[in-house]
Amino acid sequence: MRDYMCQDTIAAIGTPIGRGAIGIVRISGKEALRILKELFRTKRGNKKEEFEERRVYYGLVVDEFGEPIDEVLAVYMRAPRSFTGEDVVEIHSHGGIVVVRKILREVLKRGARLAEPGEFTMRAFINGKIDLVQAEAINQLIEAKSEVEAKVALRHLEGSLSKRIEGIRNKLLETKAYIEAAVDFPEEEVEILERGKVKEKLIEIKEEIEKLLKSYREGKVIREGIKVAIVGRPNVGKSSLLNALLREERAIVTEIPGTTRDVIEESVTVKGIPVRLIDTAGIRDTAEKVERIGIERSLEKLKEADVVLFVVDGSVGLTEEDKKIWELLKGRKNVIVVVNKKDAGLKVNCKDLKEWNRCVEISAKEGKGIEKLSEEIVKMVLLEPEAVFGGEEEVITSERHRELLEKAKNSIEKALKSLEEGFESPEFLSMDIDQALESLGMIVGKVTTEDMYDIIFSRFCIGK
Ligand code: GDP
Ligand code: ZN
Repeated sequence: MRDYMCQDTIAAIGTPIGRGAIGIVRISGKEALRILKELFRTKRGNKKEEFEERRVYYGLVVDEFGEPIDEVLAVYMRAPRSFTGEDVVEIHSHGGIVVVRKILREVLKRGARLAEPGEFTMRAFINGKIDLVQAEAINQLIEAKSEVEAKVALRHLEGSLSKRIEGIRNKLLETKAYIEAAVDFPEEEVEILERGKVKEKLIEIKEEIEKLLKSYREGKVIREGIKVAIVGRPNVGKSSLLNALLREERAIVTEIPGTTRDVIEESVTVKGIPVRLIDTAGIRDTAEKVERIGIERSLEKLKEADVVLFVVDGSVGLTEEDKKIWELLKGRKNVIVVVNKKDAGLKVNCKDLKEWNRCVEISAKEGKGIEKLSEEIVKMVLLEPEAVFGGEEEVITSERHRELLEKAKNSIEKALKSLEEGFESPEFLSMDIDQALESLGMIVGKVTTEDMYDIIFSRFCIGK
């Protein structure tokens, strides 16, 4: 087994979220305090031999020649009462990044080694300071590509998902106790009574797991974003709509210009969710030239889209061409009809089109109705957008979590089946429950396997 207990002292710049004016150098490990003593001077330039834990010291950091680098605040946190569970020193300097780097260099010269990405977190996990879900959340937070994703990660980091999983685990343990009671008192009345209770509990647990599993769909949306295709005949305002959505969010990530003045694909965030907007070139400007077959082929491409925006020019009403596209889109659940050019007066409006239950009137030119449209897009992919954005709803974003929850659910279902057959073979029932407990335990890291470490921490502590 690889040795994950990193014995050496590590250091890194802890970039504060939001990047404030303060830079922090964080040191973790046995040598942290010694390094602080070597670097730190009081305002009068004296060495300091004693540092009380969890007190803030104001002074100077000096280089190897005793020359001051910056005025700093230093804090010492004695193991195990620190983030990593080891001795930790934090040096806060108010200088810019150059100064912070200088301080880090001094720390490294005195025997610390530069931390690998995530290594502080890994030590915190190994020392039992955080569980696996929280460790993963830190990674997710760092790599979050959108506001919502960061929010969800932060909640996981604060331990809310861990608590939910622990809650389910505790219920399973209780259920096991019921089963044992039934085995210990094999009289019939007890058995019937306990069987009812066990069943009730198991169903409750199953539903809780299912709820979490359902949220994975939303988690995927948050993590990977969605694809939105914009379709419609030429000149209805597809490109204008795309530009209006871009203006609304002002968060362009990539830009792939098309062959003409039209933009073909753009990434934006709509209500905090990463969205890839596709102005379907196929239908767009070729519809006149290409007959139905061509349009159908473009529509084929729409299958990948999570949401389809079907744009019509409300100021001219529905044309034959609109109706053709309409026929092809009919029956799809993920279509929003967008009646454009409201500013020019509508000959056809959403009331006329009520067989499409989702319809929004807009003016791409004036940017009207775009907010409402964004809301409709989000509603189509998230079951409870308010809960997700408000951070009240627990959302699974990790494939690893989903797999393990699925496993746990299967075990519970098996347990429910054996329960139907009575308590004749309670050991099977217990086995299923143990298996569910194990799967859930693996989510939070209560139960660990070697390859799990490898997968999650493979980048850390290599060769140590
Ligand atoms: P596309 O071919 O579907 O991409 O349509 P465009 O976005 O290129 O727009 C076609 C024409 O309609 C252009 O002259 C736009 O200025 C105009 N247009 C687009 N949206 C609106 C709108 O909301 N109101 C009005 N009055 N004109 C619009
Ligand atoms: Zn266009």
